[in-house]
Amino acid sequence: APVIGVLALQGAFAEHESMLASLGVKSVEIRQLRDLDQNLDGLILPGGESTVQGKLLQDLHMLAPMRRLIENGLPTFGTCAGLLLLAKRVEDGDTHLGIMDITAKRNAYGRQLGSFFALQSLSGVGEIPMTFIRAPYIEEVGKGVRALARVDGHVVAAQEGNMLVTSFHPELNDDPSMHRYFIDMVTHG
Ligand code: GLN
Repeated sequence: APVIGVLALQGAFAEHESMLASLGVKSVEIRQLRDLDQNLDGLILPGGESTVQGKLLQDLHMLAPMRRLIENGLPTFGTCAGLLLLAKRVEDGDTHLGIMDITAKRNAYGRQLGSFFALQSLSGVGEIPMTFIRAPYIEEVGKGVRALARVDGHVVAAQEGNMLVTSFHPELNDDPSMHRYFIDMVTHG
């Protein structure tokens, strides 16, 4: 059975853990460098504040080792701030892991009207609830990246090989579809 590491430095990691538990999937919290060293089958980078998460990853010397694991094929699911951590290019923000070939626009919906809900269809999954909280969207996807969903013409979910990202928070709704999608990537490649 797969074991999923959930980055637990800041943000909505507990909600990801409960979602995984509800699917009968084991998770472990990633809080320090040595936590990465346990043969993870997958990794979740939660929403929160990308600047804080990026700085903590840097201070804890986790940035380069995590980048290496993902580059070597570790299935990784980044939501919201996690998307920003993975993006190669970030508008209005810094790059952190910088490995997914997307341009992400940080706080893309503004700070006032930053939070909203949408029901939208996602490629291969169907219609799912999407909760956005001061979310980024994906302005541009590279050649190897598949856009999976759009809201108001903007890409809000995408996959590039072993990397899956959503600008919304699938762990904050009852619908486990996105987590199932990710577990499928973990178990079937
Ligand atoms: N605005 C946050 C950031 O820049 C992301 C918000 C979220 O993860 N819900 O990191």
